[in-house]
Amino acid sequence: MLTLDRPISETSFLASRLKAALKKLSIETVKDLVFCFPTRYEDWSLIKKLGDLRGAGEATVRVQIKKISNRRSFKNKIYLTEAIISDSTGGGTAIWFNQPYLVKNLVDGSIVWLSGKYKSNLAGPSFTSPTYEIAGSEQVHTGRIVPIYGSLGGIPQKSFRRIMHDCLRVLTPIKEWLPEKTIKENGLEKTDNALQEIHFPTNWKNLLSASKRFKFEELYLLSIRGELARAELLREEAAPIKTDIPAIKNLLASLPFKLTESQRRAAWEIIQDLALPKPMNRLLDGDVGSGKTAVAAIAAYSVACSGGQTVMMAPTEILAKQHFSTLQKIFSTHGISVGLLTRTAAEVTSNKANVLKNGREKIIKLLKNDKLQILIGTRALLFERLNFKNLALAIVDEQHRFGVNQRRALQKMGRSGITPHLLSMTATPIPRSLALAFYGDLEISILSEMPLGRKPVKTSLVPKNGQEDVYAFIKKEIEKGHQSFVICPLIDPSDTLEVRSATAEYERLSKEVFPNIKVGLLHGRLKTEEKDKIMSEFKENKISILVSTSVVEVGVDVPNATAMIIEGAERFGLSQLHQFRGRIGRGEAPSSCFVFLENKNPLTYERLKVFASTSDGFMLAERDLVFRGPGEIFGTAQSGESGLRLATFSDLEIAVAARRSARALIESDKKFTSFPLLTERLKKMEQTIHLE
Ligand code: ADP
Ligand code: MG
Repeated sequence: MLTLDRPISETSFLASRLKAALKKLSIETVKDLVFCFPTRYEDWSLIKKLGDLRGAGEATVRVQIKKISNRRSFKNKIYLTEAIISDSTGGGTAIWFNQPYLVKNLVDGSIVWLSGKYKSNLAGPSFTSPTYEIAGSEQVHTGRIVPIYGSLGGIPQKSFRRIMHDCLRVLTPIKEWLPEKTIKENGLEKTDNALQEIHFPTNWKNLLSASKRFKFEELYLLSIRGELARAELLREEAAPIKTDIPAIKNLLASLPFKLTESQRRAAWEIIQDLALPKPMNRLLDGDVGSGKTAVAAIAAYSVACSGGQTVMMAPTEILAKQHFSTLQKIFSTHGISVGLLTRTAAEVTSNKANVLKNGREKIIKLLKNDKLQILIGTRALLFERLNFKNLALAIVDEQHRFGVNQRRALQKMGRSGITPHLLSMTATPIPRSLALAFYGDLEISILSEMPLGRKPVKTSLVPKNGQEDVYAFIKKEIEKGHQSFVICPLIDPSDTLEVRSATAEYERLSKEVFPNIKVGLLHGRLKTEEKDKIMSEFKENKISILVSTSVVEVGVDVPNATAMIIEGAERFGLSQLHQFRGRIGRGEAPSSCFVFLENKNPLTYERLKVFASTSDGFMLAERDLVFRGPGEIFGTAQSGESGLRLATFSDLEIAVAARRSARALIESDKKFTSFPLLTERLKKMEQTIHLE
């Protein structure tokens, strides 16, 4: 029998070449191996008789090889292996390319399973490159739902699958670590069974149960961790911030605008939290352009007035710089100094509002001496030896772009014994049900309205024959000095999808459509510095049209951009489209969003019509939730950052159930004394998370 902790190198049934290849994939133990789950499955479980196969299709058959032989096609210089096959109902053929060794495996007279595509003619069905398997014991590659694994670094799927199958067969039973009660209440599969089924499902229903079990595990651990973090935070002490109402009124009076009702409410909720001697943990959720920065500024100001410091972390350099310039303006007349610290920049505005360049050393000194009230930066902040004298508030902008640890690390920068309050911000409108399931340990403030006077973006759906007009319109906008975005769903052209890609569109637009206009290209494969450079050029209006993939999502303010074309809109969720659209309509001039339609699918058309008809981000998020599941609201990439491997934000129901069970468990036994295996899992989770 094989135990989970057995090193792969000590197993007896693997060739050393395979052991080495597995090692390269960081698969060191049996456990690493069996918890490497398939990324998808192919269903070859439909078993047919040769005589029943008509036309063309895909099937699995169990046949006898009547005669097999190799032939060299001189014209194409390839080997053809041809087999004549038969079963009790008829005959047929199979053909393989460039695998001459097959004649040694599939000898005349042998009984084999074949799974693959066929075409029938008068002589019976003819299979092209079918997967084969000698009949005998249980099938692994044919005649079943077959697992397909992700990147295997050159190990053939068939070999990997075989290793997995052999391993699972002799694996010692795994101890169930989920509490019996939790398993029962949620109708979960036992871990042993689920492990078998997730690799070699007996049917789709069992596969679903298996995958539910593992998703539940992840979300359950995450929930427990969230609950524990909340309890920990409750035990920690924060510096209570005395609310100085006259001072805050003073600040508000100096702003160039009147706060919206929801800004006012959110600011008040935050200020009340800040006044408590326990750390705040609040999420400020407001659509793009709803004015989160002003709310953050009020919080930072309140802190500064009571003698505390604030640190604010943004996901990109541009955003950090943007916040720096905004806050610097807001505070210039209030005697509050603001610093900026990123990989490439270090600046401070002193009380007298003059800017000191290259102030890295200076910043560190000012912080220590309590002469700098607000420090803004990127992740780079986490790598500096910053010695805040009196850190009382940590703000994280676009919080979903950071891991839990990074947020926590920021909070750990305070004096020992005092935890700074934490304000997270996001522009993803999160429906309440979702927020409770995934962020149950946070308080939430929502900015539900846009500042007054904001002109809503006019959105239109444009069929193919209307696109020339849009280009002409954009040309005019650019002549007026304005700028435009063109959003594409893919970076590179695809063979199979009829979608305009960013690179191809960039070529086409810059050469054919707008030859005299400066066009830029932005996508996720560019290095961070290149991305920053292009965004800066766009901000400075050195680029008039920016062709971009979805990377442009994150909150950059270019008020001069007044038009946006969205290609392949059917590929995006409504929430995501809404995020794109939020890039425009941020200035004085009216803005237009053009959704280019590819096909006339009535369902997507209806969906996009909803998008065109409203600018309410929360409403669109609810629509996504109902029609396409919560995955759409966040996009898939973001689930990775939350520490989830299998589960995604689409698994709302499982998440709700997992959180409910986690709460119940903690209430019944805070120290998990009755669940030692669970404690072990939690410890391991902490370790892996700390290694991130
Ligand atoms: P986001 O919530 O996307 O971070 P910002 O904080 O960048 O939004 O604000 C977007 C713009 O709206 C900024 O130019 C800001 O000055 C402006 N703004 C914020 N609040 C108000 C308000 N109450 N009235 C008018 N304009 C406002
Ligand atoms: Mg913002």
